[in-house]
Amino acid sequence: MEENKQKKSGFVTLIGRPNVGKSTLMNHLIGQKIAITSDKPQTTRNRIQTVYTDDRGQIIFLDTPGIHKAKNKLGEYMVNVAEHTLKEVDVVLWLVEPTTFIGAGEHHIAEQLSKVSTPVILVINKIDTVKVQEEILTFIAAYKDVCNFAEIVPLSALKEKNTDLLLDLIFKYLPYGPQFYDEDTVTDQPMRQIAAELIREKALHCLQEEIPHGIAVAIDSMKVRNKVMHIDATIICERDSHKGIIIGKKGSMLKKIGSTARYEIEKMLDQQVNLKLWV
Ligand code: GDP
Ligand code: MG
Repeated sequence: MEENKQKKSGFVTLIGRPNVGKSTLMNHLIGQKIAITSDKPQTTRNRIQTVYTDDRGQIIFLDTPGIHKAKNKLGEYMVNVAEHTLKEVDVVLWLVEPTTFIGAGEHHIAEQLSKVSTPVILVINKIDTVKVQEEILTFIAAYKDVCNFAEIVPLSALKEKNTDLLLDLIFKYLPYGPQFYDEDTVTDQPMRQIAAELIREKALHCLQEEIPHGIAVAIDSMKVRNKVMHIDATIICERDSHKGIIIGKKGSMLKKIGSTARYEIEKMLDQQVNLKLWV
């Protein structure tokens, strides 16, 4: 970790309703397809961090941790963000649709945000779908008083319109501090971490309640050969007696974990994957 007074670093979390474009925005900001785009709630303890680095410093994105989604009586999505998450990040990005309609879900988020002093940047996404550009002003006006926003940015995550401006604004609110990751870690580390998390998630899912004491996953190697991503990973369990359960009859459980995890990793990387799992 390199101490450097000239560089900034900090944590950013993205919140907002499902399908508002959080994963798309994150993928475009960091310039590659590595954020998990499924809407499954995070069941894992390790957070997925993706890192954006340039000469100004480092932005570490936490992919909407601690959010769980539930529908209220009106069928609206309520997005609950853990208060400690809102407090421990340096900037909150709140993504919304380009509309003047502000529902109970939005007011609920605003109420949660009002409890913390973390700067909130409102991102009005999908402005490429807005035919009349003047309408954007009405969306800004509608949202302006919902919450005490540090900034309001209309943008298109998909068409990468105004995303550079968003990066400028995030850096504006980040403190000077140490760089947590090497520059070249930006692609590699999160990918390995995400691959490990996906395998762990699939393993927990396949094993259901059978392993009470949890498991960890280590990526032993991750290399591209002949356009195929070869991954060797080890599932680590707390007790020897759990090994048999994870492997299953004639290896059937391990096979099931491997094939579901491989499918997800392929989707994430947009690339063929050869996954070898060990216990
Ligand atoms: P998340 O659930 O908030 O992570 O949303 P996703 O990133 O998965 O995006 C949901 C859908 O909205 C996908 O079909 C995206 O392609 C689409 N989308 C995201 N950003 C934009 C945008 O700026 N413009 C348009 N037209 N579509 C977008
Ligand atoms: Mg998503």
